[in-house]
Amino acid sequence: MSCFERDASATPTGGTALNDFAHMAPRAPARTPAALRNGGRVKRDAAAPAGVYLPNNNVLTPSMRSPDYVQLSTAAAITLGIMPGRMHRCGCTRCLNLLLTYPEGCRANCAYCGLARHREAERNYADRNFIRVDWPAVPVADIVDIVAQDVAGSPFHRMCISMITHPSSDADTVSVLRRWTERIDPDAIPVSILSNPTTMDRADVVRLRELGADIFTVALDAATPAIFERTRGKGVQSPHRWDKYWEVMMDAREVFGPQKFGAHIIVGMGETEYELLELVQRIVDLGGHSHLFCFFPERGSLMDHLPATPRDQWRRVQLARYLIDYRGVRVEHMRFDAHGAVADFGLPQSELDAIIDAGIAFRTSGCPGKFADDISACDRPYGDSPPSDVASYPFQPVAVDIRKIRHQLGRLRDGERYDEGEDIEQFAR
Ligand code: SF4
Repeated sequence: MSCFERDASATPTGGTALNDFAHMAPRAPARTPAALRNGGRVKRDAAAPAGVYLPNNNVLTPSMRSPDYVQLSTAAAITLGIMPGRMHRCGCTRCLNLLLTYPEGCRANCAYCGLARHREAERNYADRNFIRVDWPAVPVADIVDIVAQDVAGSPFHRMCISMITHPSSDADTVSVLRRWTERIDPDAIPVSILSNPTTMDRADVVRLRELGADIFTVALDAATPAIFERTRGKGVQSPHRWDKYWEVMMDAREVFGPQKFGAHIIVGMGETEYELLELVQRIVDLGGHSHLFCFFPERGSLMDHLPATPRDQWRRVQLARYLIDYRGVRVEHMRFDAHGAVADFGLPQSELDAIIDAGIAFRTSGCPGKFADDISACDRPYGDSPPSDVASYPFQPVAVDIRKIRHQLGRLRDGERYDEGEDIEQFAR
């Protein structure tokens, strides 16, 4: 049920055009030559892995396979000390994000995802960009060895295993989790599972909980069934089904319990703000949390020709989701305009100002770390934007960032201003 009338001819009050459903259509996947399907090139070359593999490094992609190998985010690889580099305004990441890996790669074809199957002809799985960065491949034993040397002093507040769509993914997630918990106390560094419901049933959820996983999330990604079908289902020859994702999320609700399950949702793939926030409310009412991602046209994906989510849309949804998830505001307390964009957040101005100024609402959302319940361990530096136009802040926003956010929200105070690029200039010095 919707509390507004949709009018596609105008923009939300004071804002830019939304990434609406009519404009956010993925292109159709091309056919992959038979010889290149299922990791054909990597299997043909059969290069033996030899420790850490850095993607796109002018060497043959080795044939690496979970559970012996996983990929990890560039930020995690830098923090772990197996890759040189620095992140703009971030010392390190607090979440060790691991991604299962196979020469065949993910067998799904999600339109916004850099790992999708339709890229087989263009790029080997271990060399594909995902949430804007490369993912080096590393032996699981090496990762566990490094972290186990000093668990108490580890920079990581959480470890997360991201499943992909592959016939071995369920069993290998169990193996990776076992290898971790045999050496590292999951109470010291809790573990999250970013699940792949398509291949799972309730027994898989139970097994992961019994083995010590702390939080179970479902990458719903799409905010409505129609967007799900278009971007992850039959629309792109991909196997996922909205109902199956909900079924597994409801299993996780029962097995993991309140505050220990949730969903990932991408903002700006064609939904209205109302539709997305109603979903956030539904998940909160079930006892879970939502983790938001700002749509970014991932290079090589079926949506790389489409615009990133306008910043005003993104900031409104980020702020409203924070109010619903952590401040007890309900979607029914908010008011929406004819586009379904938030027109009123349902809080007195002074309270809203204090929350905006605190900045936490605009940080990356995800499973909590050790600082506070509403501060995510998973900071995913620049996973949904370039540093010049930050969507999810992987650090605590400071005064210049808050002015930029207020500017994007159309809520600068009297006499306050933000000049384009001010935040970048301040930290380039
Ligand atoms: S299932 Fe996950 S990893 Fe695979 S294509 Fe979809 S979003 Fe990407």
